[in-house]
Amino acid sequence: MEGNGKGAVGFIGLGTMGREMAAHLLKAGNALRVFDVIESAGADLVAAGAVAAKSPADAAKGCDVVITMLPDTPDVEAVVYGADGLLRAPPTGRLVIDMSTISPVAARRMHADLAREGVAFVDAPVSGGPVGAKAAALSIMVGGDDDAFARADPYFRAMGTTITHVGASGAGQTAKLCNQLVCGINIQAVCEALALGRASGVDLDKLRRVLLGGSASSWMLDRLGPAMIAGDASAGFRIDLMFKDLRLVQEHAQALNVPLPGAALVTSQYVDARAHGQGGDGNQALFKVYDRLANQVTGRAPA
Ligand code: NAD
Repeated sequence: MEGNGKGAVGFIGLGTMGREMAAHLLKAGNALRVFDVIESAGADLVAAGAVAAKSPADAAKGCDVVITMLPDTPDVEAVVYGADGLLRAPPTGRLVIDMSTISPVAARRMHADLAREGVAFVDAPVSGGPVGAKAAALSIMVGGDDDAFARADPYFRAMGTTITHVGASGAGQTAKLCNQLVCGINIQAVCEALALGRASGVDLDKLRRVLLGGSASSWMLDRLGPAMIAGDASAGFRIDLMFKDLRLVQEHAQALNVPLPGAALVTSQYVDARAHGQGGDGNQALFKVYDRLANQVTGRAPA
């Protein structure tokens, strides 16, 4: 890699986010090898010129870097520590970048275990959702060594616009957990405002517009508000993934003895949403919890 964003990249995890991010790396002129446990997940990328790999080790073959974008900590650990994983078969360029949202403690462990084999590991979770991934406009929060960050940075530039080296290994994941804490409490605030407005008979589109013009404006209200008001639960960022993130927030805070009462409260609402079968719905469907709480049905049955 010569610092121009062109190299050979192995990309593992081609779901909602990963397939968009991998497509940008391909468009930027990188050679791409892709792997997902669901074979069909990489079909569009292969049609666009990527090579389909059969395992994480196969995805790493001949590559400068491997990037992972997987659901949770155990998935990343399986790809790193598994029999055909990256610890045994690292990429030729000996650089692994994990862009999933996982435990900062696990990130530091993988950093140390890979370092013993001479492989650099960078944690680089993202914010911006599928829209940000599609537009190559993600905010990328990076933890790791300076030289590894410098090598990873040109790849980040193909996928994001705000790229910040937050600190040492694990610092990227810590920043992402702080991000999710703000997002979780904020979506709860938006749900409560819309529930109150609705019960008062206020036009919710107008309410949203006027709030966006003042100090109550937020990404959640802007991007998720329309789907909340329309009752559109189609997935983007799934309730299950947000619950996972809030679980990681709680685990991290408890280990450090940091009280987070707001996070605890909103987590209980994600528990309720999952208990009502909403785990696969988009994050905006948290508003349905308020349908149930207030027993107010807006032309649709509560889940
Ligand atoms: P997703 O579930 O849509 O995609 C994950 C992909 O990983 C799936 O295609 C799955 O088949 C694959 N996978 C799982 N285990 C695997 C393994 N062992 N080997 C290879 N492939 C495997 O998830 P997503 O929405 O793309 O999110 C990915 C990560 O990014 C998560 O950690 C999530 O929290 C985070 N994130 C998501 C969003 C979003 O809006 N969706 C935004 C920011 C961050």
